[in-house]
Amino acid sequence: MTVRTRIAPSPTGDPHVGTAYIALFNWVFAKSQGGEFILRIEDTDAARSTPESEQLILDSLRWLGLDWAEGPDVGGPFGPYRQSARKHIYQEHAHRLVEQGDAFYCFCTSERLDEMRAAQRAAGENPRYDGRCLSLTADEVHAQLNSGAEHVIRMKVPDTGHCEFRDELRGGIEIPWSQVDMQVLIKHDGFPTYHLAVVVDDQLMGITHVLRGEEWINSVPKHLLLYQYFGWEPPVLCHLPLLRNPDHSKLSKRKNPTSVNYYERIGVLPEALANYLGMMGWSMPDEREIFSAEDMAKNFELTSIHLGGPVFDLEKLSWLNGQYLRALSPDEFMDRVQDWALNREHLAKLVPLLQERTERLSDLVGQADYLLGDRRALQRDDFAHKTLSEEQVGVIIEHTLREFDALRHWRRDDLHQICKRLADHLGLKIREFLFPLFVSISGRSVSLPLFDSLVVLGPDLSRMRLRDALDVLGVSKKQGKRLEKQHREYQALTPSQPKRIIRPERGRLEQ
Ligand code: GLU
Repeated sequence: MTVRTRIAPSPTGDPHVGTAYIALFNWVFAKSQGGEFILRIEDTDAARSTPESEQLILDSLRWLGLDWAEGPDVGGPFGPYRQSARKHIYQEHAHRLVEQGDAFYCFCTSERLDEMRAAQRAAGENPRYDGRCLSLTADEVHAQLNSGAEHVIRMKVPDTGHCEFRDELRGGIEIPWSQVDMQVLIKHDGFPTYHLAVVVDDQLMGITHVLRGEEWINSVPKHLLLYQYFGWEPPVLCHLPLLRNPDHSKLSKRKNPTSVNYYERIGVLPEALANYLGMMGWSMPDEREIFSAEDMAKNFELTSIHLGGPVFDLEKLSWLNGQYLRALSPDEFMDRVQDWALNREHLAKLVPLLQERTERLSDLVGQADYLLGDRRALQRDDFAHKTLSEEQVGVIIEHTLREFDALRHWRRDDLHQICKRLADHLGLKIREFLFPLFVSISGRSVSLPLFDSLVVLGPDLSRMRLRDALDVLGVSKKQGKRLEKQHREYQALTPSQPKRIIRPERGRLEQ
């Protein structure tokens, strides 16, 4: 049997270091077994998936040094490798389950489901579909379908007993069926949910080992039941511990930069990041800290993955990166500096901002320092302003950060619009409003044009600097919570705006 592993990212945002970490372990395991690693795009959430995000994810994984035998960009015998192009396959499979009596049409409206869940919660029960549509007769189902009634397809789930399964790292796990919902398999729009699509694709693409984040453990019973209904042999399951913020919460962009692009932009070398991600879940048999993905593959065993909650620690990453940088020859070092930001492509972004403001070439260094490297460290006093109070400064930055966090496309005009609307809403002149942003982004109250600077820096660095500014200002948790509430109210005021919906960080939307 050829070992086949996969990474299955959803293209709904920045390329996340968590995706890179899981991809690395899948790549390493496949290599260690002489197997194949493939890439599949899980874009069934049409409203949130974008081709830009897909491209960024592929680019960032390649930058890290990973490659795949099959995928949407390289093709392969089990394609298409984008779930959006496989809708008919999921439909066929779901209908097969309906015919077998393992799944059923559900016509419940969302209002009815909301009421049902509220009642269950009030009674102290876990919200779970109550099975109302299971009692419809075949005639009733046909009548509803013929009348064009909105519907979903749900899977049947046993009421009693436990689902028992084995995780390669954790051994035997038992989950009571009473905790497992009658999962929607096909949504109103005809698209599959993750749970149906992942099972069908892993089977049809010959995946032998599923290595993924531990947040999916509770979904395993649904998946195994689907394998059973279809009469398929499930793959080996291995759930990796999630990366954590220093406070041990799940790694999130509110607390830590999570985008691979951020690390690339601050000058982390790809081999250092790959090494660091490897260290998050594994150690070399000789405990050596510097190792490549290939070294990992030569020494790797699934069962040697650590189960602790690995903390993504920027200082440790910087230390490791320093080791790599110092090991380069001067020539290699120069190449890396050029690849990083002193190349024509990057400089071309700065020229329109700089050229017209320059009298001597050496002015460039002082003007563009914050666009090339880190901006200087800030202090509270930097935010002192003749009309704005410190509290107002915090409010401006917090609201702006929340708006920026939710932006799908990082465009100059959108950034400008966001600031204009917020300034109006807060009753501030735009010049006043922008002052704290200038300071947060450039470290100065006057700099190159702000919105152009934001575009050059990109979303990750920009957001990171705003977050850092809030830390410097010492916005308390309590204030933060109050501002969060105010921001929700602000969002509710502007429903007609383009989709800038603030969503909690989640791996995916579950039905
Ligand atoms: N699209 C899912 C994610 O990005 C994949 C989960 C899985 O590997 O099964 O988290």
